Amino acid sequence: ACAGSALAAPVLTVGTEPTFQPFEFVDARTKDFVGYDMDMIRAAAKHMGYQVKFVNMGFDGLIPALMTNNIDAAAAGMTITAERKKKVDFTRPVYQSTQVILVNKSDAGSVKSEKDLKGKNLCAQIGTVGAEFGRKIPGAKVKAFNTLPDTILELNNRGCTAVIADKPVVEYFLKQRGGRNMVEVQTGYPKEEMAFAVRKGNKKLLDAFNKALAAMDKSGETAKIHQKWFST
Ligand code: GLN
Repeated sequence: ACAGSALAAPVLTVGTEPTFQPFEFVDARTKDFVGYDMDMIRAAAKHMGYQVKFVNMGFDGLIPALMTNNIDAAAAGMTITAERKKKVDFTRPVYQSTQVILVNKSDAGSVKSEKDLKGKNLCAQIGTVGAEFGRKIPGAKVKAFNTLPDTILELNNRGCTAVIADKPVVEYFLKQRGGRNMVEVQTGYPKEEMAFAVRKGNKKLLDAFNKALAAMDKSGETAKIHQKWFST
């Protein structure tokens, strides 16, 4: 710490991709990073004795940034996957999600499940589980975008038949931002667990995170933050 700041808490640098409501987004008025993950990180950091500095990055840049020491943690609605676990370590899960399909209402009659997406143009966010699932659909073409709002814009412009993305984010979009002309199609996709990522082998930070998250679960802080972002 520099002179005069001897009492300041050390900084935890946390990468995020803040267009993923309600997990992380920028408050239009205050310009603050807000959302479920942001509150969870701030609360965990308080337990751990850190002050948080959020860094705005592309979703596909988060794991490389961790690996090259540019950030200490990533908080971005990130699903724990076997592939990612080879590169980073994940904290205990902070949220359970699943992928769903979003289509224009005019296509709701013809797209009832993933099977109906064979050979279609799909939109997804770069580097996400949704993009990966799209690529496994026979004959489908996945147009990849930097952010989820970009995929929804393209869907709205009929540049693709469907977006594959996380259910809570799709539902938040439909509820909060209208989405009057779109509907969610349920899929049989498996349950996923989201967690925060840290550099592989950073056991000290990982243990501190898990201890903080366990304490938050126990004290009811997690439930309170959950309630704030996911009720009604
Ligand atoms: N949960 C998804 C994933 O990890 C999407 C995350 C995101 O777009 N921020 O791939």
